[in-house]
Amino acid sequence: MVEVLKGIHSIDHSDKGDHSLETWILDCPQGLVLIDTAMQPESVNKIGNEIKEMGKTWKDVKLILITHKHGDHTKNIPKIVELTGAPVKAHDLEAPLIEKAVGVRIEGLPHGTILPYCGGIEIIHVPGHSEGNACYFLRSKKTLIAGDTIFGNEKGEIQAPPERYCLDVKEATKNIIILLNYDFEYILYTHGLDVMKDGKEKIQELLEKCEV
Ligand SMILES: [Zn+2]
Repeated sequence: MVEVLKGIHSIDHSDKGDHSLETWILDCPQGLVLIDTAMQPESVNKIGNEIKEMGKTWKDVKLILITHKHGDHTKNIPKIVELTGAPVKAHDLEAPLIEKAVGVRIEGLPHGTILPYCGGIEIIHVPGHSEGNACYFLRSKKTLIAGDTIFGNEKGEIQAPPERYCLDVKEATKNIIILLNYDFEYILYTHGLDVMKDGKEKIQELLEKCEV
């Protein structure tokens, strides 16, 4: 069981154990919230094992949040909906795209919606990596779940998402500035080592390095 921060569990789906593919479970008083689903069938077992180690079951999952449409974040949605019966939500622009790809109802959320779990989970729209790419901000935990809004490099530093994975890399890089409107310390993201100190300062430094 990997509890990276109190009530936040991180699951590393990578073969090498290098955090090159992460998803998360939030242990909220209102129920469990899954963020992203990974893509391989064995990832469903990994998520299920984590839930079991937390002393819970799939039925304790009350909400599934998706950061964006790419397959490594969404392919297990149908299986996990079958196991949990939970609603799936994503940003307004992304929801229909995911729904089309996986064949499961996805509810759209406007930018700024605050979901009543763990003291409030706010959706932040950061377009560029994809149309409705989103981060989820947990104000009470000073934590940003950034999905693919930032990536990690080999040195463990954060960087803008690489061009080959982006709908529009210029937009994706420029829009990282949106994150500075929020007060966070920790950044958990999908592909790379999490930022466990001075998250907002690190975003500021990254923007100074990027030429946009
Ligand atoms: Zn992606």
